Amino acid sequence: MRKPTFSPTKLTTYLTCRIKFHWAYRTPYGKWLRRPNPAFAFGSNLHRALEFFHSAGGAEKLSPEEFHHALEQLWSHAGFETSEQSEAYKQTGLQLAHQYYQAQAEQPPETLVLFTERMLRRDMGRYVLMGRIDRLDEHPDGTLEIIDYKSGRADVTEEQVRNDLALHCYALLVQEHYPDSPLWIAIHALRPNKKVAVPVDAETLAEFREILDQLVAQILDEDWDVLNPQWIPECAGCEFLELCVRKLGLIRPNPL
Ligand code: SF4
Repeated sequence: MRKPTFSPTKLTTYLTCRIKFHWAYRTPYGKWLRRPNPAFAFGSNLHRALEFFHSAGGAEKLSPEEFHHALEQLWSHAGFETSEQSEAYKQTGLQLAHQYYQAQAEQPPETLVLFTERMLRRDMGRYVLMGRIDRLDEHPDGTLEIIDYKSGRADVTEEQVRNDLALHCYALLVQEHYPDSPLWIAIHALRPNKKVAVPVDAETLAEFREILDQLVAQILDEDWDVLNPQWIPECAGCEFLELCVRKLGLIRPNPL
């Protein structure tokens, strides 16, 4: 029998709301009710452009015009609500790409990009952990740095990086492939063009793995026949709100 797979998105969905996890991953409604998600589509377009930038050799090999042209060519309207909205996001994307290019050109990184946008998997015993890594860099001393791009954030702090569930999942995935390399995890917030990185040692990762195993065991051993949704702030913007009200008796709060 195939082992169940878990990604950071799936785990975060469960931690936000177990009923949402049920609709999204245990029923067809997850696919049927998928909505356009402009913020996600914007991030995907930027990721594609940065993947192209690094695979083409970065600012050393590409001119700013070539990078600009590449983003125009690679831009996809999928996931936006209207073509006007897509165009507005594209203009912001072009500005951020320009800013990224300038910073890389002015201060060429000493690191080597090992790969970008790669899906990794790790057999965790009862389940398989999977995740797409935005970028993995190698420092001259052999340290590996896992970089997660964020296209919506106005800032990023060390605490946010230390508390990031997805980055710790990625660290477990990279550890499997590079067991002897020291690891750092980083968030690169593209709007302010600010990257914050922190080291993550083997002891921390072992502790995270234990917590992850317990969380997955809780999900796998859940009694999914018991679904009693309670109103939480996330309900207001949830794609499954009507289902929860109609099928599970979720009560909307009274308007003030
Ligand atoms: S409407 Fe609320 S309770 Fe229902 S799935 Fe969404 S977040 Fe969860």
